[in-house]
Amino acid sequence: MLFFDLDRFKHVNDSLGHAVGDELLCQIALRLTSCLRPGDTLARLGGDEFGIVLNDIDGPTDAIYVVDRLQEALSDKIEIETHTVYTTASIGIAICSDLYNTSDEIVRDADIAMYRAKNSGHATYAVFDTSMHDQAMLQHRMETDLRRALERAEFEVYYQPIIEMSSGRLQAFEALLRWQHPSRGLIMPDDFIGLVEETNLVVPIGWWVIERAANQLATWQRLFPLNPPLAMSVNVSGKLFFTDDMAKRLAVLIEDCRIPRGSLRLEITERVVMDHEDLVLSALADLRDIGVELHIDDFGTGYSSLSYLQRFKYDSLKIDRSFVSTMSQKVDSSAIVEAIIKLGSTLGMKVIAEGVETQDQLNRLRAMNCPEAQGFLFSEPLHHDAVNAFIQAGTAADTGKTL
Ligand code: C2E
Ligand code: MG
Ligand code: MG
Repeated sequence: MLFFDLDRFKHVNDSLGHAVGDELLCQIALRLTSCLRPGDTLARLGGDEFGIVLNDIDGPTDAIYVVDRLQEALSDKIEIETHTVYTTASIGIAICSDLYNTSDEIVRDADIAMYRAKNSGHATYAVFDTSMHDQAMLQHRMETDLRRALERAEFEVYYQPIIEMSSGRLQAFEALLRWQHPSRGLIMPDDFIGLVEETNLVVPIGWWVIERAANQLATWQRLFPLNPPLAMSVNVSGKLFFTDDMAKRLAVLIEDCRIPRGSLRLEITERVVMDHEDLVLSALADLRDIGVELHIDDFGTGYSSLSYLQRFKYDSLKIDRSFVSTMSQKVDSSAIVEAIIKLGSTLGMKVIAEGVETQDQLNRLRAMNCPEAQGFLFSEPLHHDAVNAFIQAGTAADTGKTL
């Protein structure tokens, strides 16, 4: 059983229209038919998905041979009206055996294998094995758990202050997600963000955090008017960052919350940037239009080429905690921190040092003219109730920390 799914079909539909999409499906069906033998069965399962039953197959090798032929047949351009379309497909293979009781089960496994193929890159195939099923079950359970968490409002956002070094003043907060699990207690993001990113919930959960943080910011800006106004940084995953309507949706949110330009910031990690330079560049332009800043998180850990920094005018680089925390012991770390601060200042980007825990680290950063910092020395991430008290108690300069 082959489960066949076109790559980027939605893109064809969206850009060239549904009539072209329909015609493309017809032409693909013809090409697939031409690769099959009498006795094989081809069916459209829905959308851009086809199922193919191959008869008289000896095992995976035979099936892969057919799959190669199918991919080859697809690789030629397809002409529709005045358009030339290139397309590829992801194909899952499940081999029939005594273990299957119903046809549904084998279609399900071919489908699981197809997803595996799609995730390992387009234009490829995967042969089902039982570990994929276990993996799919685990994923399913996780997804159910997370969906329930979202519905039952088990997520919380904590806020960590970001301090301006020259004045010691509270400048912004970073919104950090927490999961208040009914039986497991408070779960930190490192223990579930990776899993969230593997499920379809990454986008809805991401938006929940952004909306929560933006509304909270609006409240604090009203309660505590500062000049410049308090800002809010929100971490976003690559999957959310690259959705088509991100900037549009942000613009609506900003308008609804009435927060001024420049006070909402998105943080994406350096790794996300490296994998998708062109997409980042166009998202960056959209964000500029609506006055949302872009900060690069965990800077220094992603091996990105410094030449990117000339093309991408980020608003800020966040020096990864691993460098800050070892500054006192390692000359190298200190040199890297200093280099990032200089780089930022030369290229016109702000720099924020993360994970400042000791007075010694603070003194060093100060000597290097680091503009902003956050870390346990100033404050741990706080529940929103505690933030009011933190702001009312005054700025970091008044909290006894010598800057
Ligand atoms: P990050 O964005 O680099 O956030 C900073 C992390 O360092 C936070 O961990 C914060 O609590 C911790 N931290 C801050 N100051 C100190 C310090 O002085 N010492 C030490 N040891 N740690 C410090 P947290 O909240 O556990 O978050 C971990 C990571 O999870 C974040 O790293 C971010 O990448 C991710 N994350 C958190 N919330 C979200 C979210 O809403 N969406 C997404 N996509 N990722 C998130
Ligand atoms: Mg961050
Ligand atoms: Mg970071």
